[in-house]
Amino acid sequence: MTKCDIPFVNLSLQYEKYREEILDKVDEISRSGQYIGGEEVLKFEKNLAQVTGSEFVIAVGNGTDALSLILKSYNIGKGDEVITAPNSFIASAGAIADVGATPVFCDVGTDYNLDPNKLELSITSRTKAIIPVHLTGNPVAMDEINGIAKKYNLIVIEDAAQAIGARYKGNKVGSLGHAAAFSLHPLKNLHLMGDAGFISTNDENLYNHIKQRQNHGLKNRDESQFWGQNSRIDALQAAIGNIKIRDFDAITQRFCDIGAYYQSMLSAHVQCPVIASHNKPVYHNFVIQSRNRNCLMESLSKSGVATKIHYPMPLHLMESAKGLGYALGDFPVAEQQSEQILSLPIYPELTDTQVEYVVEQVKTHTNK
Ligand SMILES: *Cc1c(COP(=O)(O)O)cnc(C)c1O
Repeated sequence: MTKCDIPFVNLSLQYEKYREEILDKVDEISRSGQYIGGEEVLKFEKNLAQVTGSEFVIAVGNGTDALSLILKSYNIGKGDEVITAPNSFIASAGAIADVGATPVFCDVGTDYNLDPNKLELSITSRTKAIIPVHLTGNPVAMDEINGIAKKYNLIVIEDAAQAIGARYKGNKVGSLGHAAAFSLHPLKNLHLMGDAGFISTNDENLYNHIKQRQNHGLKNRDESQFWGQNSRIDALQAAIGNIKIRDFDAITQRFCDIGAYYQSMLSAHVQCPVIASHNKPVYHNFVIQSRNRNCLMESLSKSGVATKIHYPMPLHLMESAKGLGYALGDFPVAEQQSEQILSLPIYPELTDTQVEYVVEQVKTHTNK
């Protein structure tokens, strides 16, 4: 095969597809003078509710805010513990620390998600909530997690930042716990053009509370009922979201098709994602494992295939987590995975030829 150059993402290519429509909207909204909230945001929230299969959606500033707004709304803070996965993006634990609570980690399984069999070991009398992360867009074993949560009376907050559109036993992620946090960051599957996120829930009281909390606790224009924060979404971002979400099924299908192709072509050569038969993942990342991960990464890079590691350092080993008292060896599965995992390029704009090239190169460089 002739050499290809395959970037890990290509956001400007996606922009080209929607360029005229987006520019028209920018002009329309700029002229309207309605820049924060308004019709576009309400419409976007409705569209997002469909995608998540939940009754209520609140668009917020970003995915991290989505997590912390939910935690605060459940009155979780100082003295409380919240359990999450040590192999996630920093924000899963950062949001817990940011509300004053203590992040507690629990090791993951071969599917990179919280291992329900280890969960009870992390529960103490201070535990208030669990944040299962649907890492790479592959749903967590939610029935098991919810069962344990019920037994200990814990809140379940899905971190669905990477999993918009994924399904667990036929149900959409975002409707599987008490509430869910999503990110609309440019690198997440519904790539917006700036920071944004949203919360989904079926709990009307929670919905009303967060609506107010995201807007300074205001109950009307001039009166604040409780201290809140400012975490809203711009009309421009919502408008871009409304344009892209029309193609949501096609975008998601393309992620799934590429993921399925990688699975079928590569599973004999490298460790491919472990997907439960009742899961429909959205392959936010396609993660393989190799004992010679760093060499493989280097060789692929020389062949024009850009890869990344999600994530090279488990959260309990971060400098930020120093005060939590963890050490190397505490979460052996997550630690070992962090040394072997490698994410291949996966995004809707990849052509079939490019995807085939990635497969060829991975095969060539792992069989050496
Ligand atoms: C991206 C991400 C977040 C945070 O979302 P932002 O919009 O960047 O704040 C949280 N959790 C996970 C698992 C993520 O991947």
